[in-house]
Amino acid sequence: MPARAGLLDLLVAGGEVIDPATGRRGRYDVGLAGGRIAVVEPDVPRQLAAGVFDAAGCLVLPGLVDLHTHIFHGATFWGTDPRPLAWRTGVTTWVDAGSAGAYSAAALEQMSPGFAPLQMSAFLNISAVGLIAETGECRREDLCDPGLCAAVLAEHEGFFAGVKCRMDSATVGEMGIEPLRRALRAAEAAGVPVMVHIGAEPPSIDEVLDLLRPGDIVTHCMTSQTMSLLAPRGGIRRSVVGARERGVLFDVGHGSGSFSFSVAEAMLAAGFPPDVISSDAHQRSILGPCFDLPTCMSKFLALGMGLDDVVRAATSAPALAFSDAEAGSLEVGRRADLAVFQVEEGDFDFFDSELEARRAGPVLVNRATFAAGSLLEPVEPSRPAPWVHLTDAQRALLSRGPETLRRPWAGMLRSRDGYVSYRRSSSSPSARS
Ligand SMILES: [Zn+2]
Repeated sequence: MPARAGLLDLLVAGGEVIDPATGRRGRYDVGLAGGRIAVVEPDVPRQLAAGVFDAAGCLVLPGLVDLHTHIFHGATFWGTDPRPLAWRTGVTTWVDAGSAGAYSAAALEQMSPGFAPLQMSAFLNISAVGLIAETGECRREDLCDPGLCAAVLAEHEGFFAGVKCRMDSATVGEMGIEPLRRALRAAEAAGVPVMVHIGAEPPSIDEVLDLLRPGDIVTHCMTSQTMSLLAPRGGIRRSVVGARERGVLFDVGHGSGSFSFSVAEAMLAAGFPPDVISSDAHQRSILGPCFDLPTCMSKFLALGMGLDDVVRAATSAPALAFSDAEAGSLEVGRRADLAVFQVEEGDFDFFDSELEARRAGPVLVNRATFAAGSLLEPVEPSRPAPWVHLTDAQRALLSRGPETLRRPWAGMLRSRDGYVSYRRSSSSPSARS
C-alpha cells in the first residue's frame, strides 16, 4: 500500500481477527477509509491513519449480521428500534423477518434510511398485514395472496430479500400448510428464498420440510415445541437430514419462546449445528433471556460449539443466506462494518426460553461497533410498548446506564424470577416468536 499520511480514516489496531469468509485468522491491523475496508495486514504503520482504535486483547470480527429480527417499531406488535441495540452488540446488518406484509412494505422501507449507518434488509410476510398483531396473520385466506406478495417484492426489489411465513397452529388456524405453499409461489416468482418459522403443530414439521427448496430457511430450528427437528426416539428426523442435504438452511431465531438448550444439545450431539445463529430480537426478547445476538452466540460457546463456527454463523453464513455481497466479511473493499469483542469467562448461568439454565463459558462482550466506518455512539434503551409486561428485574435493567448494557445479562441471570413474564397462562393462545 502507498505510504501516505492520512491515507486511512481509522486503524483498528492489534486485535485478533476472525473472518471466516476470507479464512483470515490472527493478529491483524484493519485500516478503514471512506467507509470501506482499505487494508488488512499484520502491521500497518500508525502514522498512516488519522485515528487509531486500540483493539489489543480483543477479537475483531466482521459486523454481525442478524438474520432474524423485528425492527418495524411503532407499527407492529413485536417491533423494536435497532439503534439502542446495535452500538453495544456489534450487529451492523439487521434483517427484519416478516414484520411487514404487502400493505406496510413501503412504510418499512421508508424507515430504513433512518437507521443509517446500520444496514437493513427484510423478508416480506406472505400475509398482507404482516405482524401488526401478535399472531393469526395467516388465518384469513384473502390476506395470503401470492400474486400481491410477488408484485410488492418486484416493486421493492433490492430491499426485500425473501418471503416470511409463520407455520404454527395459532398463526395459520384452519389454513394449515396453505400459506406456506403461497409463500413459495410468491418467492418462486421473485427468485428469492422463503424463511419459514416453526412452532406448535399442525401443520407437521415433515409437511413443511417436504415443500422447502435449496436456499429456503427454517427459523426457530432449536424449538422444543411440537414441530421439533428431533426424532421422537432420539437423533435428527429423517426429513430434516434430507432437507439439509438438498440445501435448506437452519437458523436459530432464539426469541422469547423458541430456543431450548436440551434440543440444541441433542442436535449438536447428533452433528447438526445451526447454519445461522440469529436472535429474533423483538421488544419482548431483548429483555432476556435472549437479549441480543452476541448473547445467543455465547450460549453456543457454552454448548461447546467452536468460536470460529459461531462467528461464521453470525457473519458470512447469514450474509450468504440473503445474498448480501457487502456484509459479513472484512475483505478489502467491503463496507467497513466491524465488531470488537472482549472474551470474558462467565461466572453465571444462561437461561433458554424454557427458563432452563446452563453454565456460561466464554462470553462475548462488545467493546465497539463500527458501521460503514463510523463508531456507533451509545443510545438509550427504548421504552417497551404498553402491551409488553415487564418484571421488576427487567424494569431495573432499562434504568441502568447505557454502558452497563454491554452486559445486559449481568445481575439478571442468577434467578428465573427475572423472566417470570415469559411464563404464559394456558388460557391465552399466546404466540411465540
Ligand atoms: Zn421472529
